[in-house]
This record gives sequence, structure tokens and C-alpha cells, in this order.
Amino acid sequence: MQLLRPDSPAHAIALRAAHPGARFVAGGTALQQEWGDRHRAPAGCCLVPLHHLSALHGIELIEGASALRIGAAMPLETVRTHALVRAHAPLLVEALSQLGALGVRHLGTLGGNVGWRWGDSTPALLVLDAQAECAHAPGQRLPLSGLLAQAELPLIVALHIPLSPGGLPPHTAFEKAAARAAFAPARLRLALRWNAGQLSHAACAAPDVPARLLGRTLAWLHSHPVTRGAAALAGLRQACAADGLPSEHPEDLAHLAARLVAGHCGLLGPAIEEVP
Ligand SMILES: Cc1cc2nc3c(=O)[nH]c(=O)nc-3n(C[C@H](O)[C@H](O)[C@H](O)COP(=O)(O)OP(=O)(O)OC[C@H]3O[C@@H](n4cnc5c(N)ncnc54)[C@H](O)[C@@H]3O)c2cc1C
Repeated sequence: MQLLRPDSPAHAIALRAAHPGARFVAGGTALQQEWGDRHRAPAGCCLVPLHHLSALHGIELIEGASALRIGAAMPLETVRTHALVRAHAPLLVEALSQLGALGVRHLGTLGGNVGWRWGDSTPALLVLDAQAECAHAPGQRLPLSGLLAQAELPLIVALHIPLSPGGLPPHTAFEKAAARAAFAPARLRLALRWNAGQLSHAACAAPDVPARLLGRTLAWLHSHPVTRGAAALAGLRQACAADGLPSEHPEDLAHLAARLVAGHCGLLGPAIEEVP
């Protein structure tokens, strides 16, 4: 195994470019899942560690407290328990509270969770309109939704969460659904956000379904404001499938997501009869 130690984010990018097949590594807790022997990196493996880079550290309010900046190398447990994150991004705290065990949260980082593509934090970050500070574009902030659609993720230095002008975090919900069996890995992560009582954002992630915003699902909800019950479930399932969630056996994740969205939006019951 080759370990290439960078001294800055720019150096890390240069090292990865100069060594085809080299991977960034932060906590290594997701990367090791790809190795045959989780305790030993495969022969010929080339890693560019990031955790020591100070640019990837820190949790702070920036730009007149209009955004929360979280360094990509911050351990998940540090993010989860930080006073600023608890005050301004309770949805992220909720998602991280359901992630792994304490040991994993101490080693794993927020950047690594996003880099994993379907980590618990990603749907939460997507509905919070998070932007990424990337090493290749200093001074810019790139929407996380666009970055996650790319085949290769650039080096993320920090995640920025814009804060609402009133200071109060938006109404949000997070669901992590798994099979009812011990040690079953999660099947679906779903994050929702409301604005003035109306669902304004929905995002999900699942194994082999990289994190994404559910634009078609949202559009369906807005164009069918009074549909309830089975009709709502059928329409939402079709919309979730159009958003890229598998709808065939063995994993009908579109149905699972449709049920969760419908449940949170109060659409599972029958239509309320109008009293004449
Ligand atoms: C027992 C166990 C349980 C787990 N349970 C969960 C769970 O419940 N939910 C969950 O979401 N995850 C879970 N994980 C997976 C993992 O622990 C987390 O996703 C963690 O956040 C990964 O962070 P890391 O720093 O260890 O990432 P790494 O393993 O270091 O990296 C993961 C990927 O991200 C890339 N990367 C790392 N940092 C950056 C960066 N700054 N910019 C761009 N790319 C980057 C790497 O190249 C790699 O492709 C679990 C893992 C284990 C071992």
C-alpha cells in the first residue's frame, strides 16, 4: 500500500491526478468496506489521506451568520454534538444520530459520508440546500446536488448550509428504513423539508442509488394537492420511480419512499368527505 501525504488540498488533488487509481481517504470506514479483508488495504492500493489538512477542519458561522460551514474532515460525532449544528441544522443531527455506532462516528467524517454517495447525511444536506467548498474551485460554492451527479467526486473541503434569515431552522423530517432483522443495513434514507406548511424539498439515498433530490415526487405532490389514500400512493410510487428509485422486485424502494412521503404529508388516510 502506498500512502501519499499531502500538505494542502491543492497538493492532495495533484497527488491523486499523478497516481491513477489513487483514492482520497478520511476516516477510512467506508473505503474499507470495498476491501476483501477489511483490516488490510489491498496490495497496490494508493491512498491520499485528508484528515490532517487544517482547511478541512472547523465548524463555524460565516458571512454574518448567513451560513454554517462544516469542514469535510470533521468527525461525524463532533458534527452531531456541536452546539452550532444542533442549533441551526437539527435535521443533520437527527440523521447522524442514526448513523452507525459511536466508534464509527468518531472515525468517519462528514466529507467521507458524502463521498460514500449514499451516506445518511447526504439526503439531509440536500434538502438543506447544502453547497460544497471544493479544492479545485477556491472561493466558489457548488450545489451539492450537482456534485453528487458527477461520476467522480472532487475533493470537498467543507460543506456550507445556508441559514434561514429568521434564524429558526426549517420544519424537517428524516427517515431511515431497514428490514426488520438484526444488523440489517438500511434500505433507504429520506429527508424532507417544509416551507410555510408545504413540502419544499425531498431527497433520498440508498445502496446503489446515490443521494438525489426527488424533483418529480415534489412536482407530483404539488400538482395533486387533494389526492389521498391508494391513489396518492400509486401516484407517488410512479413519481419516485421517475426520480430513479427502483420499483421492481426484489427492492421496491419507490413504494417504500412513497409510503414515507405520503405518511409525513398526511396522505395515507382516505380522502375526507366534504360535508354538504
Ligand atoms: C460498522 C459500520 C457501520 C456503518 N454504518 C453506517 C450508517 O449507519 N450510515 C452511514 O451513512 N454510513 C455507515 N457506515 C459507513 C461509513 O462509516 C460512513 O459513511 C462514514 O461517514 C464514512 O466516512 P469516512 O471518513 O470514514 O470515509 P472514507 O472511508 O475515508 O471515504 C469514503 C469515500 O469518500 C471519499 N472521500 C473522503 N473524504 C472526502 C472528501 N473530503 N472529498 C471527497 N471525497 C472524499 C473517499 O475517497 C471514499 O471514496 C458504516 C461503516 C461501518 C464500518
